[in-house]
Amino acid sequence: MPAIALSVFDLFKIGPGPSSSHTIGPMRAGYDFIQAARALPAEQLAKATGLAVHLFGSLSATGKGHGTDRAVLAGLLGRSPESCPPEFLDELAAKPLAGRSMDLGPTQLTIDAGMVVFDAIEHSFPCSNTLIIRLTGADAAPMFERQYASLGGGFIDIKGQPEPPRGVPAYPYSTMEELKKQLAENDLSLHKLILENEMAVTGADEASIMAGLDTILRVMDEAVDAGLAAEGVLPGSIGLHRKAKRIFERAHIKRQTHENIIGLMCAFAFAAAEENAAGHVIVTAPTCGSAGIIPAMARIMRTRLALSEQSIREGLLAAASVGFLAKHNATIAGAEGGCQAEIGVASAMAAAMLTHATGYGAHVTENAAETALEHHLGMTCDPVGGYVQIPCIERNAMSVAKAYTAFVIATDVLPIQHKVGLDQAIEAMMATGKDMNCKYKETAQGGLAVFVPNC
Ligand code: SF4
Repeated sequence: MPAIALSVFDLFKIGPGPSSSHTIGPMRAGYDFIQAARALPAEQLAKATGLAVHLFGSLSATGKGHGTDRAVLAGLLGRSPESCPPEFLDELAAKPLAGRSMDLGPTQLTIDAGMVVFDAIEHSFPCSNTLIIRLTGADAAPMFERQYASLGGGFIDIKGQPEPPRGVPAYPYSTMEELKKQLAENDLSLHKLILENEMAVTGADEASIMAGLDTILRVMDEAVDAGLAAEGVLPGSIGLHRKAKRIFERAHIKRQTHENIIGLMCAFAFAAAEENAAGHVIVTAPTCGSAGIIPAMARIMRTRLALSEQSIREGLLAAASVGFLAKHNATIAGAEGGCQAEIGVASAMAAAMLTHATGYGAHVTENAAETALEHHLGMTCDPVGGYVQIPCIERNAMSVAKAYTAFVIATDVLPIQHKVGLDQAIEAMMATGKDMNCKYKETAQGGLAVFVPNC
């Protein structure tokens, strides 16, 4: 198994919700395609007459509810996820698409709604979330085409295109067992090892990585603030009311009770998850659907546990190590592994974040992450109406509480008595995801998506 060579900023990406595989990934694909197309010879581009985007698998099944069409079109219009204002996407959704055009240099192609084709749900591509973007010439003959796999968490793979070269990790590992061995042999703390590897893989220095982490934490916090302030109904046909503000106010009424911290955790998780559902800017952690869990934990660590910003940064690096292991050895995409791979991994990351930041070692941190993941195994993905709202928003609140419970269990029992390793839980998650029927993997064809009428 090759060593993990992921960057922390591969995992924590800033971009518009509501789904990293359905919005951030496709927007990146659209953006990549337009850059690649513009590099074609001018005489070839002058012959271009049309463009089509074909969405397959879960992108086709739930792409309408997730806003995949507007995301990919925004990318084709030259917008990248980290810099695309949410108002631009709102405008794309609200107004007819005709009249906008893609700038291909010698040719301008007018955008219309028919450009995006919701193609076969069942297909034979290796990745469920596949999209093909094709430039056509006279008689609709294909001129240039790229096939993308949207891998979850905003990652994309471009068929036939090698990954840009990266540095070699300073302390290579591909499993939790190997990671613990590196920590012991080199007498390193978990966050320090992740930081050293980040520098080696990306070439960035410590100051810029820390500044990047601060940006990630700030955007997470802004999503919580925006969600706590907002009221009204979320976009889509469900008519789901935002609830974060009310839960937050109720948590303050319960100030003297044990419900207070749970109430605050719920309010913060609802807030960021509702912002995600609204298509506003969030941080993938590790995905959009699970974007409320780590921000909620960070806010609790800051406001209730009075942990320093440095501890929270270090906790975020520890959280990244868990996300790396899940992504490298299994998946973080709901379309591949069901909701256990999104919400379950986010909960495990949040448990590791809190445990490491409060001063526990790698073994206890592993136990907390494992406990959180273990109790999400088998969780299916069944978003009602294809919107990242029911059960997704409440699931963020439930799973930040599970992360906190996992922290309590891991730090209160003897680590040596813990029987299940994180590697085993990740392996079990992958095997369960493979066995899971496709209707429970982000297609909105099973579970709550079938039994709750989308009114
Ligand atoms: S059910 Fe879970 S995996 Fe599916 S869209 Fe919602 S948060 Fe994502």
